[in-house]
Amino acid sequence: MDTQNLTFQRKTWQPSHYSQNIEGSKTLAVTARVAELRRQGVEVISLGAGEPDFNTPAPICEAAVQAIRSGHTKYTPNAGIFDLRQAIAEFLNRMGGDYAPEDILVSNGAKQSIVNALFATLDVGDEVLVPVPYWTSYPEQVKMAGGNCVFLQTTAEHNYKIYPEQLEEAVTAKTRLLILNSPSNPTGMVYTRDELEAICHFCLDHDILILSDEIYIQLIYDAIDTTTLAAFEEIREQLMLVNGFSKSHAMTGWRLGYLAAKPPFIQAAMKIQSHTTSNACSISQYAALAALQMPETDLDSMKQEFRRRRDYTTERLMNMPGISLVKPQGAFYLFPSVAQYFGRQANGTVIRSAMDLSQYLLDEARIAVVPGEAFGAPENIRISYATSLENLQKAMDSMEEALSRLQ
Ligand code: PMP
Ligand code: GLU
Repeated sequence: MDTQNLTFQRKTWQPSHYSQNIEGSKTLAVTARVAELRRQGVEVISLGAGEPDFNTPAPICEAAVQAIRSGHTKYTPNAGIFDLRQAIAEFLNRMGGDYAPEDILVSNGAKQSIVNALFATLDVGDEVLVPVPYWTSYPEQVKMAGGNCVFLQTTAEHNYKIYPEQLEEAVTAKTRLLILNSPSNPTGMVYTRDELEAICHFCLDHDILILSDEIYIQLIYDAIDTTTLAAFEEIREQLMLVNGFSKSHAMTGWRLGYLAAKPPFIQAAMKIQSHTTSNACSISQYAALAALQMPETDLDSMKQEFRRRRDYTTERLMNMPGISLVKPQGAFYLFPSVAQYFGRQANGTVIRSAMDLSQYLLDEARIAVVPGEAFGAPENIRISYATSLENLQKAMDSMEEALSRLQ
């Protein structure tokens, strides 16, 4: 064996340039940090995780147990079991869509559905319009699929929403796709039907595809006239609709999401998945089928509890000096601006960024939040209220106290 050559090769062993260009998930990193602190015996209240704290409803768990007992433990068709794809199509059609089971691709979480959709639509160098603040994974997912992000800055004054004039300014010959996420992670904002319609018209006029991430669509707390984009017939051919069970049914660990799209995009996405993960977990698919067979009213108690927490935390934050917040309407996040604390200090620790403030809150208040840098918004922090009211009360008290020490 040529050992000299082997040594040489070892020195040059490096991950690909491609992977070095990708950053790991910053939201998952916060969850990991909390787990590590807890392992060391440090008590931390986590307002970091974007994950419902409720248990998966019992009928769903029961269906999974039944699936195992009945031997549904083998590969399923790549795109998912027919009954689930049919139930998903029916769910979307009840909201105004027009999908057949063949238009549905079931995947290991909405995260994979987004990646499938991007790989199915983008060529190297294609531009993707991404409103800021964005969910932390979009820019990395776009890069992975060879696309270039064009960021559309939104403002608190405009409720963190984009409007057609902005699209007009950003569009180029290379624009291929717009990513929309309503209700939004991290801002909790919900686009109205009229706002969505105006954006759709723009995309129709300019032949731009839309990836609509609707994973929080069943978690809207105010009476807002809004809709799934699937209800706009004209846009359906160019729509990549993503949804999943993680948030609506407290099923994060089951890893079940889906893409609804029309040919030729849906087949392209299926081809891609057939070479990556094949089908989503068979047992989770039977669980998801049971989720869709449950009356939607069974989810009302979860939603009411989220609303109660949203109202409580909003009120607390709005009364904290130096914090400014646009009241969220959906999802389970608050996204206050903390810029007024920049330049202040306590015990020699100077706060210069949202990252610094998040570290300060972890050290001094023992609460974990996600710094806005993870969402392209360096003046904000993201607070998840997917934890008990009791925890939220404690967390808001500690946060208020720790902030009051910053001079
Ligand atoms: N989109 C958004 C906006 C999210 O917040 C999440 C949460 N993880 C996902 C997609 C992915 O969800 P999952 O992969 O758990 O279905
Ligand atoms: N979507 C959640 C969040 O934003 C879960 C973590 C993740 O998948 O990034 O925190």
